[in-house]
Amino acid sequence: MFRKGVVVTPEDFEGVDWIGKCAELGLNTLGIHSGGGAGHDVLSKLGRYSEESFRSEALASGIDIEYECHAPHELLPRSLFSEHPEYFPYSWHTGVRIESGNWCSGNALPLVGRNGGALGRRLSPTTHRHFYWGEDRRGTWCHCETCSKLSASDQSLLAVNAIARDLAATDPKSQVGFLAYSEALEAPEAVKPEPNVILEFAPMHRCYRHAINDPDCAINRVSWRQLHDQLRVFDAARAHVLEYWLDSSWASGWKKPAKRPAWFDRMLVERDINAYASLGIRSVTTFAVFMDGAYFEAFGDRELREYAEILSALD
Ligand SMILES: [Zn+2]
Ligand SMILES: [Zn+2]
Repeated sequence: MFRKGVVVTPEDFEGVDWIGKCAELGLNTLGIHSGGGAGHDVLSKLGRYSEESFRSEALASGIDIEYECHAPHELLPRSLFSEHPEYFPYSWHTGVRIESGNWCSGNALPLVGRNGGALGRRLSPTTHRHFYWGEDRRGTWCHCETCSKLSASDQSLLAVNAIARDLAATDPKSQVGFLAYSEALEAPEAVKPEPNVILEFAPMHRCYRHAINDPDCAINRVSWRQLHDQLRVFDAARAHVLEYWLDSSWASGWKKPAKRPAWFDRMLVERDINAYASLGIRSVTTFAVFMDGAYFEAFGDRELREYAEILSALD
């Protein structure tokens, strides 16, 4: 089955039945995002969309639910800083460990693995795919004596591996996504993924005026090469692409009023999706944040429908 869907936030349900909309458009996966920016309380942001009742309602309509969350504060509670500063990232800039950012890969991995496993069991995505990311900011990885040798990708994968081992112990079907995004776009080099770790490619750094595989776009040449490098480490058949074709929040500078994602172009999205599928990738979703009732009233849903139509050719 080709997995296809959209990723929205709880606020985007205002005036939209996203489960009904996905079912109507033939999309089979709905991702719930707790928002970008600094660390936040993931469960309180997800609210009722984190509950079993919501997942059952979606499943009854044939829609799978999964969660796409920056979760540094769940993976390493900040209340531990005074007692265990060694769990926290060392900043080369200030020369001390700091309470913000991610965690120290040398000292905090057992705890991060257990906390990620607990979050995963609590959220229990119906796809058994888990996406719990580090902080949505650059410069948040540890640079202590131990970690300074490791790239952001390697540090991120160490944490994902720890979460994946924890979840595998209670759910043999679980898979945990390594997020290729921001500072972790280059493939990991020193760390190998656990068997239940999958690639999640979120190419926010790409260009949307050209297709992802357009050799005449200098920006996308880099993105396409990075994806190929990642697929030398991760299995393409289980890899997932999280795109930005419908991300009104980005188009709006993350501030309402919402704007149309002006870069959406049916032919380009079709070429992108065919390019991903040509690599053996069978799972594609896109952010559609800010597409709520007011958005559809103002702009209609042409882009969303065209996106779903392109994917309807893939099973
Ligand atoms: Zn460290
Ligand atoms: Zn370009």
